[in-house]
Amino acid sequence: MSTLRDLDRQHVWHPYGPMPGRTDPLVVTDARGVRLTLADGRELVDGMSSWWAAVHGYRHPALDAALHADAVSHVMFGGLTHHPAVELATTLVEITPAPLQHVFLADSGSISIEVAVKMCLQYQRAHGRPGRTRMMTWRGGYHGDTFAAMSVCDPDGGMHSLWQGFLPQQVFADAPPAAYDGPHDTAFDEHLAAVAEQHAGELAGIVVEPVVQGAGGMRFHSPRHLRALREIADRHDLVLVFDEIATGFGRTGELFAADHAGVAPDVMCVGKALTGGYLTMAAALCTTAVAAAVSDERGGGGLMHGPTFMGNPLASRVALASVRELLRRDWRGEVEAIGEVLTAGLAPARELPGVRDVRVLGAIGVVELDHDVDVPAAQAAAERHGVWLRPFRNLIYTMPPFVSAPEDVARIAEAVVAAATDG
Ligand SMILES: *Cc1c(COP(=O)(O)O)cnc(C)c1O
Repeated sequence: MSTLRDLDRQHVWHPYGPMPGRTDPLVVTDARGVRLTLADGRELVDGMSSWWAAVHGYRHPALDAALHADAVSHVMFGGLTHHPAVELATTLVEITPAPLQHVFLADSGSISIEVAVKMCLQYQRAHGRPGRTRMMTWRGGYHGDTFAAMSVCDPDGGMHSLWQGFLPQQVFADAPPAAYDGPHDTAFDEHLAAVAEQHAGELAGIVVEPVVQGAGGMRFHSPRHLRALREIADRHDLVLVFDEIATGFGRTGELFAADHAGVAPDVMCVGKALTGGYLTMAAALCTTAVAAAVSDERGGGGLMHGPTFMGNPLASRVALASVRELLRRDWRGEVEAIGEVLTAGLAPARELPGVRDVRVLGAIGVVELDHDVDVPAAQAAAERHGVWLRPFRNLIYTMPPFVSAPEDVARIAEAVVAAATDG
């Protein structure tokens, strides 16, 4: 095992990591249900769903079957099509807000954001406004690690200074007030309207994460601001993009976060839980008005993107199986139950020194500290409770698989509190 770790350290990049690596990643030898088995024989309950993705846990029979039974291996999507991709796309059209009718199957969340931005630019060209090339967003967001996606990430958290001179300059409004419910902050809506008004002549679209800002800070905001954004987009003919890559498929307590507001965007990106975490795939859905503009001669005559692994049949099959499994189960009840256990279990963290806020929405639990987490100490505390957590910046957070039993969620909550104590 030390050899594996040595080779890993010498040759293999990990997310946002240095080379050679400076920390020892845990070696996973198996993963079943909500448990990760480590090479040293320990078992950890997964508090992270492998970054929002593994909503059904690991090695789920229905998802395993989708990959094993006579699946077609990858065939190119240029000039060819197949049942898995078409069935997946039509299923996504059925379950997302009604105006979204057309689906671009991308190979990762970041790429779906690139595609969404292209849709915005091509839309404006088709309407005779080629000078409208900037995106509006609010601070505190995270949309991925490719360049267009990074350009709309929070300027501080997204390390824009590192890419200075290369990154497109976007238009940033303030971060939305951090409150899912409570009195409606109309001043913030007015701020959004003023920013859009000021830049209307150069804006192509608006992109935000609805209701939950994930990797940008795990902040929740009022769905009412999404209605304000819908009005603003309509007023200036901007394409409204919702990034539901983290929030999609039930995580926030509604099937999509847009459903909290009853607002339909013009473009919606989904990913992460789309395949239940089995394979990499994402999608950008759009309205018929957007599709028509993109397809117009002046808009480009088609959507100018086409990855090699577009519509991968294996990923499509497992995505379809994952969505069907979700809809077959009482996902809403499962998410509510997880939220209740997290709410009770995380409450003691409020009393800890150094804790700024404790919040739960859907099946997401967050403890925010007033200082950066001592990650090794926090992770060691979680591991002592038999739980896998991955804190970042000043946040210790969890989004358990929906299939987690109440006692597993309670154990995760204890581990979060212990991590907040030690970290
Ligand atoms: C993870 C994430 C992305 C990027 O998706 P990748 O598959 O990692 O490229 C974009 N937006 C949000 C909200 C995300 O959580």
